[in-house]
Amino acid sequence: MEKTRGDIGLSYSRANEHCGKRIYYSDVMKSPRTYNYYSASGTLMEEMVASQLRPLIDGSPLVPMKQAGLKAIDEMISMLPEDDLKKVMDELDASVTGAEYYMKTVDYQPLVLQQKGNLRFASMARPTRLVIDLLANRDGEDIVVDFKRKPKKLSDYKISQQDWKHQLALYAVWYMRTRLTREIPRCEIHVLLPGSAPQIVPINVNAEDIFHTVNRLQDLSWRLDHSYFPLNRSHPLCSPKWCNFYVRCHHEYFKGPEAILDQITDVR
Ligand code: SF4
Repeated sequence: MEKTRGDIGLSYSRANEHCGKRIYYSDVMKSPRTYNYYSASGTLMEEMVASQLRPLIDGSPLVPMKQAGLKAIDEMISMLPEDDLKKVMDELDASVTGAEYYMKTVDYQPLVLQQKGNLRFASMARPTRLVIDLLANRDGEDIVVDFKRKPKKLSDYKISQQDWKHQLALYAVWYMRTRLTREIPRCEIHVLLPGSAPQIVPINVNAEDIFHTVNRLQDLSWRLDHSYFPLNRSHPLCSPKWCNFYVRCHHEYFKGPEAILDQITDVR
């Protein structure tokens, strides 16, 4: 029996999902996790940076960046198609260079890497789970940081910022609730770039962003409660390149014209 109540947590990434059926495949059917070139490259650079920040937090021994990167690749290898793995490996040295550039810009004290959080809203049956890439402190002020890896420098953040804002808004809510403060924390996106210096993008989360984010979670909660997972075949990300479920979805959710004509019970 499908389980859609109580056993599935809410998350920002799901609330922001463009296709209901992808939520169904990932969270209800629990399809195994997979990586592609983009997600693997992001994980790789984040792990390299984390390997250098960790000793600053807990005094653990420093692991060379490339070694940390290779370990991350090793953990993803069985979930990564061969062509994507080759692209990631071809870029390995550029990723190391980009992570080294990033470390030169660190002007904060890292506090926690991969901070896990759990929020329970009175209006939702499920908990909301989150993982903040980094909590840090710069000159006495706490900052909430999310890492993004981009292939090249972004000149226009307008579209990405909207998405980033809502992700950070959720982290901000968790921070405010755990720290018992009404002040929205400083939030930043640190864009890691293979082969070059990073971009540090401050994101001004406001009350509207927080409202919108929680509203999206409420919407996701409703969809899960009512097993409502509509297809979104017209979305630009509905393609074999971007959707891991493309073949399966098109096999399981397709009716030819004959079946559709057979469904018509009245015609005038
Ligand atoms: S193939 Fe398209 S409709 Fe199906 S799950 Fe993927 S994005 Fe959604």
